[in-house]
Amino acid sequence: MKVAVFSDVHANLAALRSVLDDIDRVGVSARLCLGDSVGYGADPRACLDLLLQSCDVLLAGNHDLAASGRMPLDRFSGLARHAVDYARDLLTGPQRARLAELTDEEWWGDLLLVHASPADPSEFPYVRDADAARGQFDGRRFRAAFYGHTHLPLAFHDDGERVGLTVRPRLEMASGVRYLCNVGSVGQPRDQDPRACWALYDSDARTLSFRRVAYDVDASSARIREAGLPDALASRLLVGV
Ligand code: ZN
Repeated sequence: MKVAVFSDVHANLAALRSVLDDIDRVGVSARLCLGDSVGYGADPRACLDLLLQSCDVLLAGNHDLAASGRMPLDRFSGLARHAVDYARDLLTGPQRARLAELTDEEWWGDLLLVHASPADPSEFPYVRDADAARGQFDGRRFRAAFYGHTHLPLAFHDDGERVGLTVRPRLEMASGVRYLCNVGSVGQPRDQDPRACWALYDSDARTLSFRRVAYDVDASSARIREAGLPDALASRLLVGV
């Protein structure tokens, strides 16, 4: 069975549409989205509606919780706070209520899905290196877990002795090894590749493939400026940081 796993759409409608088109071209049994549907980008309403229609799982990220009123804004930087305020104002009451209902973890078969932390899904640490990954492997039982939040596509593995890191576009998952996989970001990649990112997991072949999709980055960047959001949020999309 093939499933699409993606995260951090961040109200970038052009990127989301391009990724959903690519997912349809590949053909999958399920679409699993790991949260942060809103924040940073100009189109939170349209993105949330499209995600609610098209995903089999939609988790809550920290930006979603803040926009729904479930998380205080003092945990956000100035830039992020500005964009959360923008999303909160633009979303309808029913949309904020739907965001507030989203869960922070789901199991899909034997895959654990979270936004930031398998060990504590209600917290939002940045798991970017082997030390941080070690804490996640030790803090929760899972064979394979998927997460987002850092916007950096990569995979950690734990063979029982050490935690290693892989950044290859295709990963063959060995039996007896545990995996913690970051699916990158649809709407605001930060690995210096501005193309949208999503991950294709094949449970029969036990492979994970990171796919990159070109979309109209200029248009999404211009939308952010037109919306009156900070210029830094528009310019970072162009370079993928
Ligand atoms: Zn995010």
